[in-house]
Amino acid sequence: MGLVVAKFGGSSVADAASIRRVAKRVVDTKKAGNDVVVVVSAMGDTTDELLDLAHQVSANPPGREMDMLLTSGERISMALLAMAINDLGMEARSYTGSQAGLITDSSHGKARIVDVTPDRIQQAISENAIPIIAGFQGVARETKDITTLGRGGSDLTAVAIACALQADVCEIYTDVDGIFSADPRIAPKARQVPRITYDEMMELAAAGAKVLHLRCVEYAKRFNLPIHVRSSFSEKEGTFVIADLADQSQLVKLSKQGAVMEQPIIAGVAHDLGDAKITVVGVPDRPGMAAAIFQAIADSGVNMDMIVQNVSASGATATDLSFTVPRADAAKAELQLRKIQADLQFKDVETDENIAKVSLVGAGMRSHPGVSATFFKAIAAAGVNVEMISTSEIRISVVIRAEDAKTCVEAVHSAFGLDADGEAVVYGGTGR
Ligand code: ADP
Ligand code: ASP
Ligand code: MG
Repeated sequence: MGLVVAKFGGSSVADAASIRRVAKRVVDTKKAGNDVVVVVSAMGDTTDELLDLAHQVSANPPGREMDMLLTSGERISMALLAMAINDLGMEARSYTGSQAGLITDSSHGKARIVDVTPDRIQQAISENAIPIIAGFQGVARETKDITTLGRGGSDLTAVAIACALQADVCEIYTDVDGIFSADPRIAPKARQVPRITYDEMMELAAAGAKVLHLRCVEYAKRFNLPIHVRSSFSEKEGTFVIADLADQSQLVKLSKQGAVMEQPIIAGVAHDLGDAKITVVGVPDRPGMAAAIFQAIADSGVNMDMIVQNVSASGATATDLSFTVPRADAAKAELQLRKIQADLQFKDVETDENIAKVSLVGAGMRSHPGVSATFFKAIAAAGVNVEMISTSEIRISVVIRAEDAKTCVEAVHSAFGLDADGEAVVYGGTGR
């Protein structure tokens, strides 16, 4: 048919039996007449285990060494998968990200791809071998050191390679049947969507739906590459991520389902348990305060998301400024704020890690009144208290208590009529 880039996530290659199952699947795709390039993640929870190990030997592991350590996870699975495929009578050759031509900048732990030069991959394809590429990693152009692309970055490797090779599709194999209207792990009534636009998937990914890495969707959008998210545990057709739901042109050979003529109002509900809320208490109410505070956060290299300013509980001439940051960066942000506390004369800094962000995403929100009203009514009826609110053109997000996340997601999901009749299947993985 053409060229398929297939990425298998950690849960799909978690043990020897799974690796053999994936090998069979790859060989079948090849036998069906396709050229196949495979990208693999580390086995199961290997990356988390390596991270834990690093923190047991060092309080502050250098980025270079951390990347060297973490990339070993993908090297294990790539070699094992190549062995299993060779056993089935087809030639497979494994390549590190560096060997596959994934060239990045030198920012360890969150490197950006600056070039993709897949000569060796093309060579292997032309010799009828199946290249197996270690996901999540590259090599820095300047320093020649090994880098990683950020957690979940194997999705990005797969899409970048697929774009460079002008593949027909990038298949992302995972432990659920496709993209659902909510995370099936916390909302069993989530419904699989047959198609979703790049824009909606980007909002869902940014709002915490880790089924696809945000940067991989951005990258695919730029090259108009269709992504097919599906399960490695079933043969079912999954979900296609494309530019325009009504445009069937790229999908005629890939999908049995017809075009979606009318854009659904809501694409899905996402939740994120990875943020913390920082409140700067008792900020003197004068111009320039917010600018100085946010400059300090920017200087520490921390990204922030939602922002709320309130009259301070500590007095009417002061305000409290709250914002959210990734939980892993909260301590760094707080430290930075302490440094400017005496200068700016605010009273205190509080960090609250016990929060969740719940977001409703849908391109139809633009043209349908009443979406916010239904959203907030559903949350109120579930007895959940809203602490912060933010919106984009196609998203509404709230910050709530972490323990209310499941209740809130399910309430919103039901209120928009998204509940499926049956229960969504989660085939494997720990969701870690
Ligand atoms: P992999 O190891 O294959 O990369 P991930 O754990 O990164 O898998 O992503 C798959 C998981 O994403 C699913 O098991 C599911 O719990 C979670 N998820 C979150 N939101 C969604 C969603 N809207 N649709 C499908 N899965 C989702
Ligand atoms: N193994 C890496 C991680 O766990 C990359 C990936 O799985 O995509 O983040
Ligand atoms: Mg993933």
